[in-house]
Amino acid sequence: METDTIAAISTPSGEGAIAIVRLSGDEALDIADHVYKGKKSLHDVVTHTIHYGHIIDPADGSVIEESMISVLRAPKTFTREDIVEINCHGGLVSVNRVLDNVLSQGARLAEPGEFTKRAFLNGRIDLTQAEGVMDLIRAKTDRAMQSALKQVEGRLSERIRKLRQKLLETVANVEVNIDYPEFDADVVTTNVLKENVAFVGEEIDQLLVTARQGKIMREGLGTAIIGRPNVGKSSLMNNLVHENKAIVTEVPGTTRDVLEEYVNVRGVPLRLIDTAGIRETEDIVEKIGVERSRQVLQEAELILLVINSAEPLSDEDRALFQAVQGMNVIVIMNKTDLPKQVDEEELREYTSGRPIIAASFLNDEGIDSLEEAIAHLFFDEGVEAADMNYLSNARHIGLLNQAKRSVNDALEAVEMGVPVDMVQIDITRAWEQLGEIVGENVHDGLIDQLFAQFCLGK
Ligand code: GDP
Ligand code: ZN
Repeated sequence: METDTIAAISTPSGEGAIAIVRLSGDEALDIADHVYKGKKSLHDVVTHTIHYGHIIDPADGSVIEESMISVLRAPKTFTREDIVEINCHGGLVSVNRVLDNVLSQGARLAEPGEFTKRAFLNGRIDLTQAEGVMDLIRAKTDRAMQSALKQVEGRLSERIRKLRQKLLETVANVEVNIDYPEFDADVVTTNVLKENVAFVGEEIDQLLVTARQGKIMREGLGTAIIGRPNVGKSSLMNNLVHENKAIVTEVPGTTRDVLEEYVNVRGVPLRLIDTAGIRETEDIVEKIGVERSRQVLQEAELILLVINSAEPLSDEDRALFQAVQGMNVIVIMNKTDLPKQVDEEELREYTSGRPIIAASFLNDEGIDSLEEAIAHLFFDEGVEAADMNYLSNARHIGLLNQAKRSVNDALEAVEMGVPVDMVQIDITRAWEQLGEIVGENVHDGLIDQLFAQFCLGK
C-alpha cells in the first residue's frame, strides 16, 4: 500500500477566490503542523474540524498566508487516510508557496488523480464512482454536475451490480442443472436462461441509450448557427451567450487557438461550433461547400438555421435546407419586427413538422421560444430517460457494447439448442465485462491509465 503523504493544489488554477492545498497520508498532520501556526497544534484538535491560523515558512518563521485548516483523520475521509486541507484565499503565488512549503516538509507532489486513486484502492469508492469524480471535475454545466454527482453516488454501479447478480443467478441455475441431471430440469433452465439473459440485454440497451446523452453532458451538444449573410447569426450568438453563462475554452493543438463557447441553455450544454468563424468572417454561408464549413456541419449535433423573414426565401436558403437534411434542425425566422416577405408555406415544407421559431433578435424576442425548443428536443424527444444515470464514459460504453454482444451470443446459443454449459461461457463473459465497468475485474494497467486522466489534486 502507498503510505507516503501526497499534496497538491486541489482547486482549479485561476478560478475562485479560495485555493486549497490538500494533503493525504500518514504524515499529513505532522507535515501540516510544521508549517502551521495557530492556537493549538493540529495534533491536538478534534477530527473533522476547521481551524484558523497562519501558514509560516518553517525556515525563518515568516508568515506566508492567513488560512483555515481542516483536519480530517482517517478513516472517515475521501482517501480513508489522514487528510489536511489548507484553505488559502490569496492568489496563485501564495498558494504555490504553501504547496512548496509542505513539499519541503516531506510531502510528495501528487500525481494526477492520485487522491481519487487512493480512495479507490482503499475501497472508499468503486471505479464508476471514481470516474464520476473525474466527470464532476470536468462538468461544464449544472445539469452535467448533477449527473456526475449521481454517478459518484454509485447509482450506475448499483444498476450494473443488479445485472451481474442476475447473470450470476442464471449461471448458478445452469450449474444446478449440470450437477444434478437427475432433476431433469432442462426445459425450465432453458426458459429461465432465455428470460434472464433477454432481460439483461434489454437493460444494457437502456443504459446504452443514455450513453449518448452522457457524452453530450460532458462535451456539450455540438451546435452550429448557420444562415446566409445578414440574417442575424451574430445577433443570435450574442443573445445566447449573454443570456446564458458562457464558458470559453481554448482547444489546444491548433495553430491559431480556436475558441469554443459553451452556453448552458436550460440545462442543455451547447458547444457552439466555429463561433469565431461567425464572429470574424460573417460569411460562413458563403463558404458552404468549402471543406471547413462542411466539417462544421458534420460535427454538429444541432443546427440553428436562421432565415430573414423580411425577405423571400432565396436559393441560398434552399441550398442550406438541402445541406442539413436529416439533421436536428431548428429553424429561426428572424426580423419579424419587419414586414413579412417569406413564404411560410414553403418554409414548412423544409421543417418536417418541427416548429419554426419566430424571432426578432434586435428586440430580444424569440430567444425564450428557441431555448424551449432546444430543451424540448434534448429532454423530451427521447434523449433523456428520467432518473437514469448518464453513462458518460467511452470505456463504459465500450464495455457495455461488449457485454451486449456476449448476451446476444448467449441468447442465440440457447435458441439454437446449444448445451447450456456452453451458453454459460457467454454469460460468464458478459458478467466479467460488466464487472470491469464497476472495477471488479480490473488489472493495474487499466487503473493507472484511468487515474492518470484526473486533474492534479483530485
Ligand atoms: P449575420 O450576418 O447573420 O451574423 O447577421 P447579424 O447578426 O450581423 O445581423 C445583420 C444585421 O441585421 C445587423 O445590422 C443587425 O442589427 C440586423 N438585425 C439582426 N436581427 C434583427 C432583427 O430581428 N430585426 C431587424 N430589423 N434587424 C436585425
Ligand atoms: Zn454577423
